Amino acid sequence: MRYNLISKIANEVIDLVYPPGLYCNCCGKITDKSRTYELCNDCIGDIKWITGRACEKCGKALGESDPGAICHYCKTHEHVFDKGYACCEYGMHEKTLLYEMKYASRGDIAKILGEVIYDRMLAELGADGLRGAYDLVLPIPLYKERKLKRGFNQAELMAREFSKKSDIAFDNEILFRTRPTDAMKGLGPSERKANIQGAFSINEEKSEVLSDARIIVVDDIFTTGATLDEAAGILKDAGAARVDMLVFAAGADYLIV
Ligand SMILES: [Zn+2]
Ligand SMILES: [Zn+2]
Repeated sequence: MRYNLISKIANEVIDLVYPPGLYCNCCGKITDKSRTYELCNDCIGDIKWITGRACEKCGKALGESDPGAICHYCKTHEHVFDKGYACCEYGMHEKTLLYEMKYASRGDIAKILGEVIYDRMLAELGADGLRGAYDLVLPIPLYKERKLKRGFNQAELMAREFSKKSDIAFDNEILFRTRPTDAMKGLGPSERKANIQGAFSINEEKSEVLSDARIIVVDDIFTTGATLDEAAGILKDAGAARVDMLVFAAGADYLIV
């Protein structure tokens, strides 16, 4: 109950800081608020939504060359999180949108992506099913200096919006980063794992909330899952019963700008 109240207040503050605009959130073309996700028709059409077969473990789109229900990466690597959900593939258009959000101080885009991930889960479980499936939504935290530099944590804004729409409790203090990490861009799977190992910790004062909790962890992108697995591991060590992950885009990032 207390968490819901805090979450509600925080969401109202976010609404004041990022008022909805009249321009397409991706290309800047003039549009209006009635458009889906405040994106113009061109941009909505360019996003590669995952509507076909997806990996049952991580949620990545499966190609015609992927036999079975699990992607090649999940077949050859064990994940710590239980199940992943993604909205779209990680192509050039999605990269542009995420790049604009992170490096052009567009926190308003993160809020829209919060709506997108909510709609994804709504389609999966329905409103009541979703509310009943999880006890807590947590964002992947940024290290405090990086958050100060960027002005916001995109995963936090997405998770706040998701919490507001789904009525699942939100917390931004239970899970935190203990040290800065290198950018994952260009790193291979084992380097990613080493980069993130031990980078998260749990706020002991709040840890009782994690006991037997079913948690959904939000981030903007999923590539190998190293970050999400590290977070899931520490949450499970602290007593979480289930840790799922929910991202906007999932795929390889070797083409990142
Ligand atoms: Zn556009
Ligand atoms: Zn997979």
